[in-house]
Amino acid sequence: MAGGDVIIGLEVHVQLNRLHSKLFCGCSTDYHASDPNTHTCPVCLGLPGTLPVVNRRAVEYAIRVALALNCQIQGETLFYRKNYYYPDLPKAFQITQYDFPLGLGGSILIKGEDGEEKKIRITRVHMEEDPGRLVHAGTIDRAKYSMVDYNRCGMSLLEVVTEPDLRSPKEARSFLDKLRNILEYLDVFDGGLEGAMRIDSNISLVGGERAEVKNISSHKGVEKALAYEITRQRSARRRGVAQVQETRHYDELRAITVSIRTKEEAHDYRYFPEPDLVPMRIADWVPKVEAELPELPDAKRERFVAEYGIADDHARSLTSEIRVANFYEVVAKRAPPRLAAAWIADVLKGELNYRDITIDKFSPDHMVEILSMLEGGKITEKGAVEVIRTILDHSGDPSEVTPARVVEAKGLVRAGDDAVKAAVRAAVEESAQAVADYRAGNEKAINFIVGVVMKKTRGRADPGEANRLVKETLDEI
Ligand code: ADP
Ligand code: MG
Ligand code: ZN
Repeated sequence: MAGGDVIIGLEVHVQLNRLHSKLFCGCSTDYHASDPNTHTCPVCLGLPGTLPVVNRRAVEYAIRVALALNCQIQGETLFYRKNYYYPDLPKAFQITQYDFPLGLGGSILIKGEDGEEKKIRITRVHMEEDPGRLVHAGTIDRAKYSMVDYNRCGMSLLEVVTEPDLRSPKEARSFLDKLRNILEYLDVFDGGLEGAMRIDSNISLVGGERAEVKNISSHKGVEKALAYEITRQRSARRRGVAQVQETRHYDELRAITVSIRTKEEAHDYRYFPEPDLVPMRIADWVPKVEAELPELPDAKRERFVAEYGIADDHARSLTSEIRVANFYEVVAKRAPPRLAAAWIADVLKGELNYRDITIDKFSPDHMVEILSMLEGGKITEKGAVEVIRTILDHSGDPSEVTPARVVEAKGLVRAGDDAVKAAVRAAVEESAQAVADYRAGNEKAINFIVGVVMKKTRGRADPGEANRLVKETLDEI
């Protein structure tokens, strides 16, 4: 899907969902498991006569994010009213920022299409309140009616806007993954919650107008919608139909985008400064927030390479999620760091992804134990994989299954040298045809014999070792 003709810029709405209360009122943010319209008050319902009060911590979190995205923090920042009517917005205006956003001119590093580090520029980061949530009875363009839930109304949102620096749907996906990664490091965000991140994707072909595909909540959805748009815009261009600036909706079920309106302009919103809130002078807050910034993914990756001597690819994989990075460090202090990196990045992460579960389901102690058995030659690599799978698939109390018990119960103890040697001798004797083939110059025939050895040892021999022994035996007869 790459190609020199594609231009993509993203506007990402991030919910600061680790805050305790909403942006301008005291309502709890812990509504995700609650009934609709149970986390509301006169302020977030926009009743007449109510006044907003800024959540100080929300501003601190916003500064934290803007700093982590390498933005310039504006000395003074200001809220505006953005006026429009929509049922999810009971005040008929959204409190947001306009000129004087909190952060300007940042960047994020991603791994680009060519595998090299690529800098994606961030235009701005601004604060705003979240509207409520509409639940459509059916698809948005066909629903007979929609219901509205104001629990989300007034949640703290950040809008992160990129420059049009992305060149493919895949780069857009990498950007979003990296942004989520950084936000989770900052402890301001839980990407697992409904509506945590919603993305507007702007896409055009060089020389053409852009389409803005609104409000997609999954990274994969963004990637697919953009791929669809590229095909659609290219084919329109071939037919001589010009793209107009428009807003489109991504229909996840049908995997297509549909036009919903031509583009609105800023003057349509009648922005004006919010008279109920004073400008905020935040320059003085910055040093404190800056001092408290945690180590971020790029820095952690570099440190892992330097401190543990692991490959850059492993370090990248391990730091792409804060929980995995923390898990690795616990293990690497008690096991050979490179071995730990390979087993966590290449094996454990794959098994977790396959089951769609997080690393919290696996204990670092168990990893240390498995690596120690592997190093000591007690189990083979195949056996180690089996232990990991068995533990992950065990339902119920995880303390019931320990690696030692799995090895015992499944008979995974690596076959002793004598047993392997005996199996090799027997296998060579039984495989006359393969032996003849090998002698005739067919090196691959050895794999057949190794297979027989593995069968005889019920998979408990190390395949590399078995291969070596078979070869040795054949060469000496
Ligand atoms: P608006 O505020 O009207 O939506 P902006 O100029 O602020 O428009 O840009 C919004 C988003 O559109 C940004 O993410 C920007 O990178 C992206 N964008 C701008 N020009 C293009 C383009 N030609 N093709 C694709 N995306 C673009
Ligand atoms: Mg826009
Ligand atoms: Zn409220």
